Amino acid sequence: MKLILLGAPGAGKGTVAKLLTAVDGSVQISTGDILRGAVQAGTELGKKADAFMKAGDLVPDDLIMGIMEQRLQEPDCANGFLLDGFPRTIPQAEALKELLDRIGVKLDMAVNLDVPREVILDRLTTRRTCSNPECQAIYNVKSNPPKVEGVCDKCGSPVIQREDETEEAISKRLETYNEKTAPLAAYYEKEGLLMNVNATSSDVVVQTIKDKLGI
Ligand code: AMP
Repeated sequence: MKLILLGAPGAGKGTVAKLLTAVDGSVQISTGDILRGAVQAGTELGKKADAFMKAGDLVPDDLIMGIMEQRLQEPDCANGFLLDGFPRTIPQAEALKELLDRIGVKLDMAVNLDVPREVILDRLTTRRTCSNPECQAIYNVKSNPPKVEGVCDKCGSPVIQREDETEEAISKRLETYNEKTAPLAAYYEKEGLLMNVNATSSDVVVQTIKDKLGI
C-alpha cells in the first residue's frame, strides 16, 4: 500500500504505520525518525535540523524534499510505503505530487487521524522513545511502559523523553501543526485521496484502512 498518514503529533501515525508494515511489508518512512537519527549521528543534515526540531518548528522544506527524493526511490519502497510525518506543508505536498508523477508512483490514499486534543496532550507528555537511532521504539509511561523502567525491550538502549516533548515544545508543535499541516486535509480532499478516521485505538484505525483498501 502507498499511504500518507496525516494527523497532529501524538495522533498515532507512527504506531499505525508500524502495525501496517506487518500487513503487507510496506515500509514506514518517518521524516522525524530520519532527522533524529541525523541529529544523533552529527551529520550535516542533523546540524541544520537540530535547532528547528528542539524549538518545535518545522525543518525547511528543501531539506525535507532532499531526504524524500532519495528515500522514495530506494528499492524497498517498490512494495509500498507509509509516509509518517510527511508531507507537513502545502509546498511539501505539491513537491511530493510532482516527485511521484515523475517516478510513476500512484498513492492509494491520505489517511487523516483525527484525535481529540486532550488525548494528544496526554499521549505526548507520557510518551517515551528509545534513544537508539536505529530503533526509536515508542513507549508510554502509563499504557505501555518498557518491561524494565528506562530500558528498551527491543534493543536494551535507554528509553528517554524527547527534547521536543517538554510542555513548551509540545504546545509550539501543536500550533505549528494547526497553522501549517492541518490544511493538508483539505488539499488531499480536493485530490480525491482523503480518508478521515476518528478513532483513538490504533487497531481500529488499521482495520478501517484495511477495509477501505479491501485487504
Ligand atoms: P515527528 O517525529 O514527526 O513529530 O517530527 C519531529 C520534528 O521533526 C518535527 O517537530 C519537525 O521539527 C521535524 N520534522 C519531521 N518531519 C518533518 C517534515 N515533513 N517537515 C518539516 N519538519 C519535519
